[in-house]
Amino acid sequence: MTSTLPEKLEAEQAKEVEQASDAESTDSWFSITTPPSCSRSPSRSDSPLLAEEAVMTKEELESIYAELEEKWGHPVGLYVHGSTIFANHVPNDLDLIAIVEEPKQELAQDSPDSQFVLGRCEVSVYAKECFLEKMESMDLTMLTCLHTPPRFVLKRLEDPRIKNLEIDADLLEASVISYAIFTWKKVQRVLDEWQDAYKASKNAYFVFRVMNLGCQLAEHGCIRDLKAANAKWDVVRGIFEDLDIKPGDSNVVEAVLAHDFLRTLRHFQRQIALAKASGAPPLNEEEPISDTCAVCLEPKESSSSWIRLVNCRHCFHASCIAQSLRARPQHPACPMCRASVRMDESSDPTVTKWFQEKVRSSKRSRYSYAGYPATLRVREQEGASNR
Ligand SMILES: [Zn+2]
Ligand SMILES: [Zn+2]
Repeated sequence: MTSTLPEKLEAEQAKEVEQASDAESTDSWFSITTPPSCSRSPSRSDSPLLAEEAVMTKEELESIYAELEEKWGHPVGLYVHGSTIFANHVPNDLDLIAIVEEPKQELAQDSPDSQFVLGRCEVSVYAKECFLEKMESMDLTMLTCLHTPPRFVLKRLEDPRIKNLEIDADLLEASVISYAIFTWKKVQRVLDEWQDAYKASKNAYFVFRVMNLGCQLAEHGCIRDLKAANAKWDVVRGIFEDLDIKPGDSNVVEAVLAHDFLRTLRHFQRQIALAKASGAPPLNEEEPISDTCAVCLEPKESSSSWIRLVNCRHCFHASCIAQSLRARPQHPACPMCRASVRMDESSDPTVTKWFQEKVRSSKRSRYSYAGYPATLRVREQEGASNR
């Protein structure tokens, strides 16, 4: 995975290893806490609140426990989730995942009915049985909880099923690809329908994070570094800012990121194939045709602004292809050969196959994914944009 990320990331990781070695898993936010053997659920005392820089105040935690006991069920697990643990930016709110022993009310899986907001905390509640089932079906949300640094584990769920968990490569493949493609489709919707370019950029980064976490799980059987995809956040933010991405620009986003998406997806599939020891397919990375932009005829300047389209090997400066696509929004095609800039069967059959089978077939909504915890905010936003 690291080979597909910019050098920045390698520097970041080197720095982190240094920090980890001198901090020895104390309170440092992102020290690598999982030992190389990846043994799970080390029995640490659950006392992050006593740490100097607690994730939340004692009062906040007490009010969450009270709310859970009163309306939801006895809490047996509580994990910080979302941007706080991935640290790509500092969020204003705090996403939490709570697990209750015997729910006092029916918890519709991933529905807004199973979430509550208390101050800055947004809590998604799962019944223990449901959490464990989703974990065993290789749902990334649950797998992330298992590998969350101790500082963000407010109450660790204990169960033999967690200790005995094995990574199932087939299920992991299904889970990661459908999640990634769901999120990819969501980028378009958030940008063009909800008209929220910042949120769209966050989702574009999520796509790469999902595949990165999948690669780590396939390769190591655990998530060693929750921050490993963060360099991608800088890249995606850079692209959105440099090209001034606005609502209606989903063709541009697809043109500049789709090739990278497929390359990362194939890398993940390769890791899965290796995990299954079934012989890895070649990465099949053909060289681009030339180092000259076919729009402006100027040479390539830097890798970050140099875009290869997904269906042909034609390359452009990001700003040049953006300009070309904006001039003809109804025809999102390569200016050289007219190949579509959007991913389709010709770019990779996987994407359409997975999107049709796993994502679109869901009856709950037009776009739905079974492992998506942030439903509440999604619905709120939908409500707001309908008004
Ligand atoms: Zn150019
Ligand atoms: Zn072309």
